Amino acid sequence: MSIVVQVLFVTLLVFVPLAEGMAHAPGYHPDSERADGSAKILSNRQEHYAASQSRHDRQPERLTLPTGNPDIREGKADRPVSDQPRATPSGSPTPVSSAVNNSLTPVPKTDARKTSASTTTPAQTTLPDSQKPAAKATPESTTVPKEKVAYLTFDDGPSPLTPQVLDILKQHGVKATFFVVGRNIEGREETLQRMVAEGHVIGGHTYSHDYRIIYRDAASFYDDLERGNQLIEQVTGKKPAIFRFPGGSTNTISQKYQDPTKYGPQQSVMTDIIKEAEKRGYLFIDWNVENGDARPGSYTTASSVNSVKQQVQNKRDIVVLMHDSAPKAATVQSLPAIIHFLKEQGYTFAPLSADPALPAVVRGLRPR
Ligand SMILES: [Zn+2]
Repeated sequence: MSIVVQVLFVTLLVFVPLAEGMAHAPGYHPDSERADGSAKILSNRQEHYAASQSRHDRQPERLTLPTGNPDIREGKADRPVSDQPRATPSGSPTPVSSAVNNSLTPVPKTDARKTSASTTTPAQTTLPDSQKPAAKATPESTTVPKEKVAYLTFDDGPSPLTPQVLDILKQHGVKATFFVVGRNIEGREETLQRMVAEGHVIGGHTYSHDYRIIYRDAASFYDDLERGNQLIEQVTGKKPAIFRFPGGSTNTISQKYQDPTKYGPQQSVMTDIIKEAEKRGYLFIDWNVENGDARPGSYTTASSVNSVKQQVQNKRDIVVLMHDSAPKAATVQSLPAIIHFLKEQGYTFAPLSADPALPAVVRGLRPR
């Protein structure tokens, strides 16, 4: 009698926890959409672990599965469409994106090994093969989480059109960068404060934007830049850490205005100014895509969109130059279409910063 009771007791001890674990399993299952069934052989703890990973972090786990298995190929096809561009390694070779995703890259690597071991073990005859693709897939899988990033930039504001630009950015959930001209701030302080409150970044673009003043020599440039930056700081509480040169860092027009007693015909004031930027702890930002709104005569809403479409090509990181000033209404009108296009191309949006994690290619961008 007592033996029977003991046996029953032991049986309960062993099976009740198991049964609870099984009962919880569906609730913890993060991947009910999986078609390849691989999740079924994960333990509860593994499922829990998988649930804590983001969608992108988990992708490499799929990429390491044997590629020859038709079931898995079907499973891949069932992935959400929005994941597809990420799984396709995009064109540029790049130290850049490793800088962007420094923190993410090592995680999928180790995950891939762990999960491929656990998911492929029961696959009997495919085990040896599965290890080969896994080894090959590792370098590829590191390209998966890299993102295409678009940095939208608006120069010369604030202007009467800035609130419309901010409305559009808000509607689309896009954060951008405004390179502000100091002398345009008065009377538009609230616009500047709104930029900051809505998560955008303000960079300096000098106070006067007057080439005759700023490109005389390095001291004149920084006097003018600091004057504008101090105004920005007074209004927003934040001093810009980045700036954009009127005309870009490779402009040649500055040679027309540089002080001939300081710079010979073979010298450029820009060399001096650029050297000084680093000493002062500033990062200047150029661009690699423009909507063409700097050419007043020939630009329209359609040309603004087309110009971006043509120049984006397959660049990973793009800094898009646009202007924020009263005559540039077509830029505002073209903005929704530009944002839609870039989203379709798989870009996410971010504001610029002086953060060292900013992609090297962005930091080194020069006008084309
Ligand atoms: Zn400008």
